[in-house]
Amino acid sequence: MRMNRKRSGWIKRLFSRKESSRKNGPLILERSKHSISRRKMSRNAVKVLNRLNQGGYSAYLVGGGVRDLMLDRSPKDFDVATDATPEQVKALFRNCRLIGRRFRLAHVHFGREIIEVATFRSGQDGTAKPAEQSEQGMVLRDNIYGTLEEDAWRRDFTINALYYNIDGFSVVDYTGGVADIDARLIRMIGDPEQRYHEDPVRMLRAVRFAVKLGFNIEQSSEQPIFKLGNLLEQIPQARLYEEFLKMFQAGCALETFEKLRHYSLFQYLFPHTNRMLDEADGALTFLSRALENTDLRVAAGKPITPAFLIAALLWEEVRQLAASSQAKHPESGERLPLNVRLHHAGRDALRAQRKSLSMPKRFAIMAQEIWELQPRFERRRGRQPEKFMEHKRFRAAYDFLVLRAEVGDGDKKLADWWTEYQEVDSAARIKMVRDVPNNGKPRKRRSRSRKKKIVSSE
Ligand code: ATP
Ligand code: MG
Repeated sequence: MRMNRKRSGWIKRLFSRKESSRKNGPLILERSKHSISRRKMSRNAVKVLNRLNQGGYSAYLVGGGVRDLMLDRSPKDFDVATDATPEQVKALFRNCRLIGRRFRLAHVHFGREIIEVATFRSGQDGTAKPAEQSEQGMVLRDNIYGTLEEDAWRRDFTINALYYNIDGFSVVDYTGGVADIDARLIRMIGDPEQRYHEDPVRMLRAVRFAVKLGFNIEQSSEQPIFKLGNLLEQIPQARLYEEFLKMFQAGCALETFEKLRHYSLFQYLFPHTNRMLDEADGALTFLSRALENTDLRVAAGKPITPAFLIAALLWEEVRQLAASSQAKHPESGERLPLNVRLHHAGRDALRAQRKSLSMPKRFAIMAQEIWELQPRFERRRGRQPEKFMEHKRFRAAYDFLVLRAEVGDGDKKLADWWTEYQEVDSAARIKMVRDVPNNGKPRKRRSRSRKKKIVSSE
């Protein structure tokens, strides 16, 4: 708060002069007028900026790096913009690789850190026609180099279009980003509706930044979102997955989810889940609890996996499909056991989900394992619990069981039993197993060989 008030003072002073200084070009915040310090930047980013500059090129830090430093936050990554072509950048750095076919970018590698260096782009082709567009107005080609100013106007939000000039340490603002940082507003550059048509993912980005920074979406940038969600249907499923990760793994999953529902965007990412949330009592409570749980883990620095999120998002559908399935074993004619029904239900739910947003196979498989292991917690005879604990998905499946129990889906006593079982020594474990009701009774015998074939989780 203290920082904000201090900052708003100098920004007010600045904006009394703003109009005159912007008529002749961008607003330029000199070194003494902003709070960005090179000490808070990655050393490697500073190295790249300096080397480019010494090579005779202009070099700017841009995007989230500048925005976050202006807000006293730690940037996730540092992007650099320059007038050097990718080949010229490559000539300056031994540790540089050029990537991308549609638009070439230079990646400068420093161990695990990559500094992305992009040549200024115009978003226009040489004849000043708008970049190539699909029938719906989506930009298909925008690989034309441009000036710093053009590069600024093609970016998404004003707060993302600020440039920190390594030559003189000023901040360059063509689009009003400094004022919007001060007003805490996410404002689309240009005509919002047109820009959402060009790239519908910008709607998801607006929501993500609003939640992450605690900003409001400026009204004319906000209004079109309510009605343009269906444009997300044109976005490749894998790109939506990438955005999903950024939105749900940054520590604000619950709030992001609520905002996505508010703007009617969630239904285009997880259509089946959205229907379940509207139809099934308890589905919303479960999912909210799961997202809250993810946020708590992120805050505590604990590892998270997209598989758990996917398992939670699709659970209601999987649970219902498995519960209602009457599928029979082809030979015995018996109804399939619950874990097999869960396996099939999971496969069907994932197949349907893939049409909108698709995740890498390994996470889909892991989600499926989490689901089909749920009934195995009931089996607590002899060495069964001990063996289950050695299963590579035991921990994830157990966390899922606890979550279910917390919202009344499944047996709270069962979840508590497993919590205790993991905490006590082996003598106490033997006693716990003996004390499970019905564990004293003789086992009902089934044909082991047949069971092996159909119980896929073992
Ligand atoms: P963060 O990295 O913290 O998520 P960011 O703003 O750096 O936020 P990136 O996805 O790293 O986001 O993109 C870097 C910059 O590229 C953005 O700040 C923005 O200027 C520009 N940009 C990214 N995506 C788009 C887009 N879809 N349309 C226009 N400009 C974009
Ligand atoms: Mg970034």
